[in-house]
Amino acid sequence: MFVNMMSMRKAAQEPPVTVHQIPNTLSLDAFWMPFTANRQFKAEPRLIASAEGMHYTTVDGRKVIDGSAGLWCVNAGHGRREIADAVQRQLMALDYAPSFQIGHPIAFDFAERLAAIAPAGLDRVFFTNSGSESVDTALKIALAHHRAAGQPTRTRLIGRERGYHGVGFGGMSVGGMVNNRRAFATHLPGVDHISHTHDLARNAFSKGQPAHGAEFADDVERLVALHGSETIAAVIVEPVAGSTGVLIPPQGYLQRLRALCDKHGILLIFDEVITGFGRLGAPFATNYFGVTPDLITSAKGITNGVVPMGAVFASRKVHDALMTGPTSQIELFHGYTYSAHPVACAAGIATLEIYQKEGLLTRGAALTDYWQDAMHSLRGLPNVIDIRAIGLVAGIELSSRPDAAGARGYHVMVDCFNHGLVLRNSGDALALSPPLIVERTQIDEMVMILGDALKRVA
Ligand code: PLP
Repeated sequence: MFVNMMSMRKAAQEPPVTVHQIPNTLSLDAFWMPFTANRQFKAEPRLIASAEGMHYTTVDGRKVIDGSAGLWCVNAGHGRREIADAVQRQLMALDYAPSFQIGHPIAFDFAERLAAIAPAGLDRVFFTNSGSESVDTALKIALAHHRAAGQPTRTRLIGRERGYHGVGFGGMSVGGMVNNRRAFATHLPGVDHISHTHDLARNAFSKGQPAHGAEFADDVERLVALHGSETIAAVIVEPVAGSTGVLIPPQGYLQRLRALCDKHGILLIFDEVITGFGRLGAPFATNYFGVTPDLITSAKGITNGVVPMGAVFASRKVHDALMTGPTSQIELFHGYTYSAHPVACAAGIATLEIYQKEGLLTRGAALTDYWQDAMHSLRGLPNVIDIRAIGLVAGIELSSRPDAAGARGYHVMVDCFNHGLVLRNSGDALALSPPLIVERTQIDEMVMILGDALKRVA
């Protein structure tokens, strides 16, 4: 399949600035796109040429508002000069240096700055390159912790139905979205899942945290009774599940989960790959909900999506248990060639400076009522069966077409794109999570485009 870039460019009033010269006839064949219906996409591509602030510009020159902050990562908005400049300066000063048995100052500086904004007590930072790597790293740290702490039988990892924890074998195994699992016959042994918290019958159209369902946490007791607590290393959950259609924890649920993990000596991991860095109007969901896990996974917003990076935050308890044995011994046989990549660290520091200067890690708190009301104004439109919103994230669930689960959500997503809005669909659930710089008028614009799409798409 080919796209004629010349005619696309002619349609654009002003050709977008691109650094790399794209050929006039662009073949779409070689790039096997991730999490995409490749043949469908290539027959009718949606191509972005540039981005600035809240907007993308398509290759044919249309402005499209970014309702999903890229993939939940561009929290400070697109095209931030400060980050680009920091990256360029770092590239000229130190393009790469390893972090195995050698160090570079910017990695230590960035880790200290992250520790300073991390939830209290979670101030030991292990760098990765993505959310998936953060998840696998946290799971491995949990296992290593128990072994070092004299409990080597604790090897079982517990995830949650409808959870998304990336695509590594660890994250896939504890994840609970069937399409991400069933094509890959094998997954980690010794993994189990607690039930999800989605309860439309009792909680549809809740504002903020739904009232019903704290007792879903008690499912941990079922698995303890089944397997024995002495076999369980960790429970991992997203405080707010994003990729499965924005599932907000019921009131009291996370507190109960924490209490049960404490009772049974199980480590609690919060996967904050989406909720970290201001999504809920607090630096982390941990701060927002007032429940502290033993490990936090993060990525995405850590560099504003500009350079791939992730980080795992570990409590002193978890970290210190591994800092034993001879000092010449490597404490954790784990790491990536690009852990603490200097260019990613530079992007991360510049990103944190923007977050701090512009108050973005808490900006969502002031906007959340407006956001809630705007999202809930879509209630009553065709096929809308639930709306849930918290901080600056929202899920709008549509009823499925008979025998075509996900088709309606996909068509609404495409309609929105064609009319100027990028949002995500997970099956028939639509997710919105704009950059944290979003203005009220832009929230109105998103709701208008989405509302019209819902009226148009049967
Ligand atoms: N964990 C959660 C909660 C996520 O939402 C994601 C991605 O959306 C991941 C992990 C995986 O992150 P990545 O795609 O950077 O590997």
